[in-house]
Amino acid sequence: MLAERTKKIKPSATLAVDSRAKELKAKGMDVINFGVGEPDFDTPEHIKEAAIKAIKDGFTKYTPVGGIDELKEAIIEKLERDNGLKYEKANILVSCGAKHSLYNIAQALFGPGDEVIIPAPYWVSYPDQVLLNDAKPVIVETTEDNDFMLSVEILKENITSRTKAIILNSPSNPTGFIYTKKALEEIAEIALKHNLYIISDEIYEKLIYDGGKHISIASLSEEVKNKTIVVNGLSKSHAMTGWRIGYAAGPEEIIKTMTKIQSQSTSNPTSIAQKAAVAALRGPQNCVAEMRQEFEKRRDHLVKELNSIPGISCKMPKGAFYAFPNIEKILGKNGINSSMDLSIYLLEKALVAVVPGSAFGAEGYIRISYATSMENLSKGINRIRKALEELR
Ligand code: PLP
Repeated sequence: MLAERTKKIKPSATLAVDSRAKELKAKGMDVINFGVGEPDFDTPEHIKEAAIKAIKDGFTKYTPVGGIDELKEAIIEKLERDNGLKYEKANILVSCGAKHSLYNIAQALFGPGDEVIIPAPYWVSYPDQVLLNDAKPVIVETTEDNDFMLSVEILKENITSRTKAIILNSPSNPTGFIYTKKALEEIAEIALKHNLYIISDEIYEKLIYDGGKHISIASLSEEVKNKTIVVNGLSKSHAMTGWRIGYAAGPEEIIKTMTKIQSQSTSNPTSIAQKAAVAALRGPQNCVAEMRQEFEKRRDHLVKELNSIPGISCKMPKGAFYAFPNIEKILGKNGINSSMDLSIYLLEKALVAVVPGSAFGAEGYIRISYATSMENLSKGINRIRKALEELR
């Protein structure tokens, strides 16, 4: 009955953990949810006000499919200001979240026979979006020793005549690591040599710690920019996950094709959310810095505590709001043989929801989101510590 392609994919594992935790919570159980992929902060007030004004002004109708000019202009200003990237409106498409931007890219570029290189650990939706377009995800390994950055040797080994693109995510969900300029330069050089597109998911750009700075691979040179589609959005930077605004910036022909696809699927992103996004991009940015500072404090606390638990080792992540501890030393104890077993054990025994590394193509790890209060972090860590002590 159902189309063949639907059999190749699975529901988003992170959303599945999140909904299982919410289900237990709804039953009255005191679950600490470290599975979430969204800031726990409220959307800043001036952004909400802009949306309320849009409703009151009657800005509640269809807009141009690819987003209103005002928002495209605000995005162009942002990309120039923050990333040193110069684009025209024809290079921008606003979609219903960065996930939708990525899906439009996959639809526009990938088809049967195409191969797409995805470094693991990867964000859960990349392989499935490739599969949904009848192309082949080529999952390539990275190592903790190399801060989970794709090495050029591995990249070269995996390029074939069918390789069409490579998907990069920096800062990364789930590892929290970021690519260095040198690593980006090396990857870009190989991509250009083999005529590959680079899809650069930069949604966590605003969450970088220790004074680090985000570098967009597209900013390395005009040549690289011409082969790159930059993806970004407001969900993580401005605590706007529910508003569903993401965008892509890239070569005109690709953006035009993505817009055509969007015109036959969702049409425009919500008119009101677009006005809110303009306020987010053009308004005061201190809210972004404040959230980042709070995340940084939580990261420091969480990672220190995790490393004090026997069997767990956790490198200090540099961005996003995830820690990705290594749990290999715990595996093999009391029938816990995989990151999934451990996640189930922690949910049932300690009432703490975490996401197994296997969901991101990385066995031997779990992902802990620190997009939750300091109090919840302390409580959850203590529960994990206790539950793991019982394994010995
Ligand atoms: N890319 C990455 C790496 C993410 O973690 C997420 C959300 O979890 C997204 C893209 C999608 O964000 P949104 O569709 O809310 O803009």
